[in-house]
Amino acid sequence: MATATQAVQLTDSVSRYIAKSRQMLINGKWVDAASGKTFPTYNPATGEVLANVAEGDKEDINRAVAAARAAFDTGPWSRITPSERGKLIWKLADLIENHAEEFAQLESLDNGKPVTIARIADIPGTIDMFRYMAGWATKLEGNTIPISAHGAKFLAYTLREPVGVVGQIIPWNFPLMMASWKLGPALATGCCVILKPAEQTPLSALLLGELIQEAGIPDGVVNIVPGYGETAGAALAAHPNVDKIAFTGSTEVGKLIVHAATGNLKKVSLELGGKSPNVVFQDADIDATIPGAAMAIFFNHGQCCCAGSRLYVEAKEFDKVVDGVSQLASKIRVGPGMEPTTDMGPLVSEEQMNKVCSYLESGYAEGAKATVGGSRQGDKGYFVKPTVLVNTNEKMKVVREEIFGPVVTAIPFKDVDDLVVKANATEYGLAAGVWTRDIGKAHRIASQLRAGTVWINCYNVFDPAMPFGGYKQSGWGREMGHEVLNLYTEVKSVCTPIS
Ligand code: NAP
Ligand code: MG
Repeated sequence: MATATQAVQLTDSVSRYIAKSRQMLINGKWVDAASGKTFPTYNPATGEVLANVAEGDKEDINRAVAAARAAFDTGPWSRITPSERGKLIWKLADLIENHAEEFAQLESLDNGKPVTIARIADIPGTIDMFRYMAGWATKLEGNTIPISAHGAKFLAYTLREPVGVVGQIIPWNFPLMMASWKLGPALATGCCVILKPAEQTPLSALLLGELIQEAGIPDGVVNIVPGYGETAGAALAAHPNVDKIAFTGSTEVGKLIVHAATGNLKKVSLELGGKSPNVVFQDADIDATIPGAAMAIFFNHGQCCCAGSRLYVEAKEFDKVVDGVSQLASKIRVGPGMEPTTDMGPLVSEEQMNKVCSYLESGYAEGAKATVGGSRQGDKGYFVKPTVLVNTNEKMKVVREEIFGPVVTAIPFKDVDDLVVKANATEYGLAAGVWTRDIGKAHRIASQLRAGTVWINCYNVFDPAMPFGGYKQSGWGREMGHEVLNLYTEVKSVCTPIS
């Protein structure tokens, strides 16, 4: 019988899945890269190779775009009814649910996150997203428009049509869920897709590809091309026959995507980085705020674009909140994601671990102090201890730049107006948190913060119905909710005289 310290038993299908080299999905066929090349994906808990995956590049992107183009322009997808589209998306959600444990294990092995968290967060979140978007397929309405042109009578109306062939490039922090945020609205609106998963975490997207076929979504509608950003990703962003590119990742790469898209002026939507302020007032319910502030930064090992990475606490409660968050951090059990007792797994890669550790070093060099954690854990796998930094200020790199790891900087404040200025003094604007019992103040601060999402007395609450995206350099457009449908549709005005 399994003891609490034994790793979760791999399902037979996951064992089989990783034992074989994985191919890419183009036009309904599983194929090798045109170059014949493969690349390894690693298990970040051990640093060992987990599986080898076909390495797509420009040639494969060309093949996938041709398939998507044909499926969109003349294939069965162009004739399918909205109701049938909705049913296919719903069926895909059901299939994911049937394979939930396999997906949870693949996410844990490939990304490092605890399998226990993938089971309750990533996989249900993915299923919910597809179900929510299935409902939208039948509700993409235009308007009738009363127009006054030429003083004559006209019938004028708008149609909401799919934008066409969409390139989607996603990151490694929530591999399957990011795929659902992208594919859900694309399928609901009738677009065709070329999806490029992140090189660190291609496996769950490839299993999803098998279920897309099993659901009966026609060949060529969804093509999945794993590979590197500089080759496959760049070729997709620049491709002249792609109508839109949807990207989630770093602000730096987001800017490259914008440049690459200029050739054919394809539509661009971007979900980028963040350095989100989490603001605690002294009148907050401090006992509820402390675990909330800890979860805001440590969830997913801090590898969240919306992580509450700048903790601002009103001076009177600063020590209590910092002590509380530090104590909780010290109790987080850091270990391999496949151990059932693990609260926090390794970071996704050696590169990410080194990046986070070099931020810690830069913090210390500028005078910051860790109240807990503060370094790598062990020498095998890519583990970093949950860390709280004090003695920090807005001039320091650790306060200005996105660390994308389990590191929060804590800063006291006295003056509320000054706090708002400091909270907004960032190139990012993705999310923010406000903790207070004063509802007037909560909503006033929420209106003053330049961020796409403001959580009041909570953090990291997501729902497929609630839009998410960034102000400033955190992105263009909103994903989720009905807002995202605007990113995947064109509006056509049609007008005719009727007298
Ligand atoms: P990244 O380097 O920007 O990678 C994101 C994706 O872009 C990957 O699939 C990557 O491919 C690809 N890529 C890299 N260079 C490219 C290029 N020149 N052209 C086209 N595609 C390219 O970011 P990351 O390090 O994987 O992810 C962490 C970042 O993503 C953080 O900054 C985080 O804030 C942000 N993020 C934002 C959100 C959001 O919703 N706003 C969500 C998650 C993450 P390869 O990995 O294969 O090289
Ligand atoms: Mg991996």
